[in-house]
Amino acid sequence: MKKKHLAMTLSRLKGFLEPKPELEQYRTPGNVAAELLWLAYSLGDIEGRVIADLGAGTGVLSIGAALLGAERVYAVEVDGGALEIARENARSLGVDCIDFINADVSEFSARVDTVVMNPPFGSQVKHADRPFLLKAFEVSDTVYSIHLTKPEVRGFIEAFTRDNGFEITHRLTLPFEIPAQFFFHRKRLERVLVDVYRFERCRHGEAKAE
Ligand code: SAH
Repeated sequence: MKKKHLAMTLSRLKGFLEPKPELEQYRTPGNVAAELLWLAYSLGDIEGRVIADLGAGTGVLSIGAALLGAERVYAVEVDGGALEIARENARSLGVDCIDFINADVSEFSARVDTVVMNPPFGSQVKHADRPFLLKAFEVSDTVYSIHLTKPEVRGFIEAFTRDNGFEITHRLTLPFEIPAQFFFHRKRLERVLVDVYRFERCRHGEAKAE
């Protein structure tokens, strides 16, 4: 499968029926999901790997990982309705290696090879991305995540990563379109920039002591 084809397939999946602002339910656009997954795939972090998608929503990243040959994907999502759509999306493409887990990310505890996630950006609840990063760093040595391209967010991510014994190995900046689905969006389409990160656990004892 080519990157373009993956982007198109993922952009055709069903999205949130009634997006909940407090959960920051913005689905990842197909092109952004494809860039993240392609990077992960090319670095050997997807094929034959066990993956967790934290805050899986309607399943874009989980399904993309499955299409690129993941062995198993845990799709963890607190909203049962979104997870139902994710299940339907997976079924529509004949994907059958995803475990759908209706839970808060803090309750998830399986060890995985790779985490892929598009956590809440923290624009509604400040630092809503923190429990996601903490959980990802707990269950995996390799983490892909999407955050806003803003100096204060970058500063936070850089410090938080370092303090938790991880390093940033890759960062891609991409446009991310959010449809005007919430009452507080004035424009039809909100276009923001996001950073797609790859984090890896530090070796050689470079990490800050506990
Ligand atoms: N990963 C999806 C959805 C991104 S939106 C995609 O790429 O399209 C963020 C998702 O995180 C939403 O579906 C929201 O319901 C979920 N979420 C927010 N807080 C959560 C929590 N504490 N535990 C599990 N899921 C959560």
